Amino acid sequence: MEAEDDIFRPAPGRLYKPVEAQLCVPADAIEATLNLLQRAGHRESGLFWYGTRDATGNGQVRYVAAPKQQMTWGNYHVSPEALAEIVNRLPEGWKPLAQVHSHPGLRVEHSNYDDRMMSSRKALSLVFPSYGRSTESFPKGVGVHEWQIDYWHLLDDALAARRIVVTGGTVAVEDFR
Ligand SMILES: [Zn+2]
Repeated sequence: MEAEDDIFRPAPGRLYKPVEAQLCVPADAIEATLNLLQRAGHRESGLFWYGTRDATGNGQVRYVAAPKQQMTWGNYHVSPEALAEIVNRLPEGWKPLAQVHSHPGLRVEHSNYDDRMMSSRKALSLVFPSYGRSTESFPKGVGVHEWQIDYWHLLDDALAARRIVVTGGTVAVEDFR
């Protein structure tokens, strides 16, 4: 099988426009994310960050979930049914805030496959390198993508650090794999 990250996608037609809104993620959620990605071994895996979003678009991550899925060294696949199992149990008002997955190496830009696998264009997309074994301080080295108009833009380090802020706070974690 072809690895999804061998398939390069076209460059954006327009520049990313920075937004004011921030996604706040507890340090515990980052740690849980790395643990869940590492638990998949030498396979890519997909996770979701859920929580609340206020009227100005600021998000607060409260729940990290790994849905039932197929995982291989070069891609992952979550069925709509597996995702629905999680989404249907979310507390009232909670939204998908980010879709997260791992890549084998250091390349963390979306593939065409990744563009297609996004379940919501309102969520951010995060790609963690080295199957979640990176030791850099988050979000450095992580591919943070945001949808605008017609493209999943990969944010540079400075924009990513402004868009996603690590905070305190508690988070629920579940692994359905
Ligand atoms: Zn990918």
